[in-house]
Formats: sequence, structure tokens, C-alpha cells
Amino acid sequence: MSDCIFCRIVAGEIPSQRVLEGGDWIAIRDINPAAPTHVLVIPRRHVDSIAALEDGDGQLAGALLLAARDVARHEGVAESGYRTVINTGAHGGQTVAHLHVHVIGGRQLTGHGTA
Ligand code: AMP
Ligand code: ZN
Repeated sequence: MSDCIFCRIVAGEIPSQRVLEGGDWIAIRDINPAAPTHVLVIPRRHVDSIAALEDGDGQLAGALLLAARDVARHEGVAESGYRTVINTGAHGGQTVAHLHVHVIGGRQLTGHGTA
């Protein structure tokens, strides 16, 4: 989707700080970090959200979780702990309509969100 900011980041049309990448995903630093570590795992293929995943997307969905694990190890927060957040739709607070997994850590988190 040419008007999707994360598709444009995947394509390299918008600059980002890449942390890691895999065959189906990239991981970039969030532009407005909520914690010392705040990385977004983004599938290379455009999917609006979890709500738009299809039954055949299990491999992609699993790859995103494994990617979050790898990002946490890479960032050195695997032992101290971290939060993974996937916002879906309006009530979920999703602001970018391209599925992404937040990996947040490096400080004690409270509540349940990205704050
Ligand atoms: P969400 O609210 O779950 O849709 O999260 C979207 C996230 O994308 C927010 O944490 C933003 O700070 C982040 N974001 C938006 N634009 C960019 C960008 N160009 N590069 C990196 N992160 C971004
Ligand atoms: Zn997209």
C-alpha cells in the first residue's frame, strides 16, 4: 500500500532505524519511544491488523512473536523482562493501520499499555 507509512518504511522510502530483520519482517526503533527499548516488529507484507489476519497467516503471526523474542535478546532485555503490545482498531488505540508488535522494556512498566 503506497499510502501506508509502514509499507513505505519497509520499502526504504521513509528512513527508519532498523534493529533487526527477518524474511517476513523488519524491526525498527519507535520514533516516540515509551521506554529505553521501544522497537516495532513490522511484517513486510501489508496486513491492517490482527483483525485482518486470515486462517492461513499462522506462520506469519508466529514469526512476529519469534521476532519479538529475538528483538528482546538483541536489546538485552530478555532477562529483565519486557512488554509486547499489539493494538487493534480504534478502541485498541491503533494509530498506524499496518500490523505491528511493540517490544517495550528497559524500565519497570505499569498498567497494560505502552505508557
Ligand atoms: P500504534 O498506536 O500501536 O498504532 O503504534 C504506532 C507506533 O508507531 C507509535 O508508537 C508511533 O510512535 C510509531 N511510529 C509512527 N510513525 C513512525 C515512524 N515513521 N517511525 C517509527 N515509528 C513510528
Ligand atoms: Zn502497510
